[in-house]
Amino acid sequence: MRHLPYFCRGEVVKGFGRGSKELGIPTANFSEQVVENFPSDISTGIYYGWACVGNGDVHKMVLSIGWNPFYKNTKKSVETHIIHTFKEDFYGEILSIVIVGYIRPEKNFDSLEALISAIQEDIEEAKRQLDLPEHLKLKEDNFFHLPEGKTVNNR
Ligand code: ADP
Ligand code: MG
Repeated sequence: MRHLPYFCRGEVVKGFGRGSKELGIPTANFSEQVVENFPSDISTGIYYGWACVGNGDVHKMVLSIGWNPFYKNTKKSVETHIIHTFKEDFYGEILSIVIVGYIRPEKNFDSLEALISAIQEDIEEAKRQLDLPEHLKLKEDNFFHLPEGKTVNNR
């Protein structure tokens, strides 16, 4: 994957209100500005990496880039599910991420149950991959310690 690792940060905005949270898998959506700055040839699909809200702790995450065929979206979206339980929502905050690796392409699912179980597998895969020494070191990257207030795509 040519663009990886990919560093980016930007504001968390309201998504499509599809109820990801009700499924137990909230996804923090990036603003359109951030999405438009993504390399246009980055493959759609599911990725894993590291994420941090504001200047908080760095957590594991899974990320989806694409058109979300399950919901027949017409817009591209970049959505981060942080593998951590937060006390509160963080709309409007700056989310910093590094996309480390690719898991799978986007797929269509026959049922909500099938979608949820695929995402659970993605989360397990992300946890395993990110424990590898070469991936753990990105958690400590200076990118996560920079002062805030700037939208940066790939530094
Ligand atoms: P939306 O359609 O607005 O994106 P979601 O149901 O996907 O709604 O919920 C996303 C919101 O949930 C995020 O913007 C964030 O404020 C909050 N949130 C709480 N915990 C998490 C988490 N672990 N990962 C991502 N977002 C979370
Ligand atoms: Mg969302």
